[in-house]
Amino acid sequence: MIGVTVLGATGSIGVSTLDVLGRHRDRYRVVALAAHSDVERLTEQCRAFHPELAVMADADAAQRLRERLRGIDTAIEVSAGAEAVAHAAAHPAAQTVMAAIVGAAGLLPTLAAARAGKRILLANKEALVMAGRLFMDEVRAHGAQLLPVDSEHNAIFQCLPSVRSGGLAAMGVSKILLTASGGPFRDTPLTELPAMTPAQACAHPNWVMGRKISVDSATMMNKGLEVIEACWLFDTAAEQVQVVLHAESIVHSMVEYIDGSILAQLGSPDMRTPIAHALAWPERLESGVRRLNLFDVATLHFAAPDLARFPCLALAYQAMERGGTATAVLNAANEVAVQAFLEERIAFTAIAAVVEATLSDVPARAAVSLEKILEDDAHARAVARDTVARIGR
Ligand code: NAD
Ligand code: MG
Repeated sequence: MIGVTVLGATGSIGVSTLDVLGRHRDRYRVVALAAHSDVERLTEQCRAFHPELAVMADADAAQRLRERLRGIDTAIEVSAGAEAVAHAAAHPAAQTVMAAIVGAAGLLPTLAAARAGKRILLANKEALVMAGRLFMDEVRAHGAQLLPVDSEHNAIFQCLPSVRSGGLAAMGVSKILLTASGGPFRDTPLTELPAMTPAQACAHPNWVMGRKISVDSATMMNKGLEVIEACWLFDTAAEQVQVVLHAESIVHSMVEYIDGSILAQLGSPDMRTPIAHALAWPERLESGVRRLNLFDVATLHFAAPDLARFPCLALAYQAMERGGTATAVLNAANEVAVQAFLEERIAFTAIAAVVEATLSDVPARAAVSLEKILEDDAHARAVARDTVARIGR
């Protein structure tokens, strides 16, 4: 039996992960579940999976969970707070950790899993965007294993040779082709973009996801974060990563080789495929995903992204080029801006403006330590909040 901890259990990825785990109870056992404050859902998950440990980052929520579980399963330990979440990530009974907390809050717990030498199924791309080099160093130093769950990175992983020695060039790879749907506003007239609402931004044409990543998909900051994620995961430069608009979200990404071959991974847009792949690799696991019918799909489209429509994508490339803590600044400013947009304090198009202003106001430094990274993250959040207050409605 393989013990699994799920960080961000109540979110979109967390729920899909438990769906896959529930199909293979003979093989996987849930050791710990952690989430922010959704007591209702975590109670249900505890009832279904009986973990050893359940953690709520929010202390009041943890107290309510404790009361709820009294009548269900008194053997489940309940703990509270950010440190308890990081503790769960290093739980000795789990070999595998699903890192699916959204945003910067996922960094410390995911690092804790790396330091405990776990097999990490990485959904929380923000951890790599904030602290790529440091995180990859910790993974190596502690013999942890990193398996990408982000559908594009999981696709790239699947299209690379199974025996890996040296970098991409040594494997004969000439380019990574990172596909992007373009989100809900890919065809919206540019003049209408400022008036787009959170509900419209969260209505993704192909994927059902959490609200933050849905807005990131609408601005294409998500693709920018994924370019940075790909650079760290596959040890390559941003110039080697080409974004390809692909409206159908059927090809999840591709790898181009020097002999002219392009390998692609295709499938229904359902996160249970990359989750099952990362869980079982190098084996395969039934995931519950509807089989792709190529006759129904029939046609696939590919196009170059329009940087005037998606300024956030260009900002992410700029931050990666600048290096050091610039990507942590980008991520922090984006989190503040997306939150402000979701709370209807700024317009959709102001998200890019807030990120751009923050990047120009906060100088990047070498990302030599976690402390420096977290200092610049905090500085960027303060600057971004000021900009939101100035330009907000
Ligand atoms: P979501 O908003 O649906 O869920 C987020 C989860 O994180 C929830 O369980 C929430 O309780 C938990 N959480 C938030 N703050 C926390 C904190 N401070 N401490 C502990 N737990 C906390 O988000 P999601 O769509 O599931 O995305 C999760 C991560 O996976 C993100 O980093 C996202 O970029 C990435 N991802 C998601 C998808 C997708 O299809 N949803 C695809 C690729 C990558
Ligand atoms: Mg993705």
